Amino acid sequence: MTELRITAPDEQFCSACGQVVKKAAELCPHCGVRRFPPPYAPQEGRDWLVALLLCVFTGGWGVHRFYTGHIGIGLLQLLTCGMCGIWTIIDLILIATGVYTDVDGKPLRR
Ligand SMILES: [Zn+2]
Repeated sequence: MTELRITAPDEQFCSACGQVVKKAAELCPHCGVRRFPPPYAPQEGRDWLVALLLCVFTGGWGVHRFYTGHIGIGLLQLLTCGMCGIWTIIDLILIATGVYTDVDGKPLRR
């Protein structure tokens, strides 16, 4: 028999024991494991506007790639001048449309 549990908007599953816990809870009341990331942590992520402006003004050197943590691709863009600007234009479209993610796969913070 499988149990289907739907969480309320202020609940989520504990990553350690799988029990439902409140999102605001720092520790899981079932297993005592500290939840990660802590709920009080400041919102992380790279800023969308900064990435967009970096791409517009310094895209040929891949500076927006360094900013979002894509160091390898950034070096490649730096060495190829953003594939003569083509890569820069593609990145600009991706950032402007919100498809672009940082190195952790997280969308840029608006
Ligand atoms: Zn737990």
